Amino acid sequence: MRGTAMRSVLLTLVLAFGVTACASSGHPVDLATVSSVDRPQPVGVEVNPPTTTGAATQVPPCDPTASLRPSTNLPQPGAMPSGSTMRAIQDRGRLIAGVDQNTFLFGFRNPTSNALEGFDIDRVRDVAAAIFGDPNKVQYKVITSAERIDALKSGEVDIVVRTMTATCARWVDINFSTTYYVAGQRVLVDRASQITGIDQLGGKRVCASKGSTSIARLRESPAPPEIVAVDNWSDCLVMLQQGQVVAVSTDDTILAGMVAQDPNVKMVGPRFTEEPYGIGIPKQYEDMVRFVNGVLERSITGGSWVTSYNKWLAQAGDRAVPPPARYRD
Ligand code: GLU
Repeated sequence: MRGTAMRSVLLTLVLAFGVTACASSGHPVDLATVSSVDRPQPVGVEVNPPTTTGAATQVPPCDPTASLRPSTNLPQPGAMPSGSTMRAIQDRGRLIAGVDQNTFLFGFRNPTSNALEGFDIDRVRDVAAAIFGDPNKVQYKVITSAERIDALKSGEVDIVVRTMTATCARWVDINFSTTYYVAGQRVLVDRASQITGIDQLGGKRVCASKGSTSIARLRESPAPPEIVAVDNWSDCLVMLQQGQVVAVSTDDTILAGMVAQDPNVKMVGPRFTEEPYGIGIPKQYEDMVRFVNGVLERSITGGSWVTSYNKWLAQAGDRAVPPPARYRD
């Protein structure tokens, strides 16, 4: 096969040189007409898809950031109370966590070590350490934004830690921990672009991930863009790099990861939403919600939240300020 391939490359080169030789002898060659060619797109691209809020029913008003109060003391690692959700996880021998592998700084695969890393992954490791005394006892399941709710409802995962905004619509289907980070939606464009914010995107092609709050907010914009919806945030960066969209719009956290990877893109305009990130937990496991909230409180008082913030998110001169915990009971 290799020999055949090599021969056809050589033949192509000989023909090319032959044509060049003819052309240079004073007889111009007719150039083949190149009509517009569809550029390759990421799998699953949809233009202006329907909004998916994560709840089919009427959404009751709520404070999406108010979670369930943890009990005073966390159980010792390896000694989860019998009959609890945490005990079932301990007996299984691993925590199953739905995460991303495409979002630099939050959940991404380190190409050198092949390990998943980032601010969200550190939160998963804190929960595993609290259950087992070992942060590595985790089975990661890589899921898209659109798969988060179903992964929790079907019991495929114990928790989702994936740049997930706590919203009232999502509370209908799942529980959230207290807020562990507050992001805000912004706009990312090519460094040479004249666009300065969301208000200039009306009718223009803007990329966002399916099943994200970002899509819903773009649709509500006074100047709604043409929404190009993809499965992964990294697909949006590639489409922007290839000029197939004029902007990407989502949480500034995710966009900061893109800026860190590509010096040719920039974030513009102010935050126009607030996105309080919570850890997603199945609706029926309230003991797990209280436990995870206890773990989050301890990560803030014990320093692991600050260490992780400083490693992944801090801009020069930033002070790490964890969001205050809010409970409704
Ligand atoms: N925070 C937003 C959400 O939960 C966007 C982030 C994402 O889709 O990963 O929908």
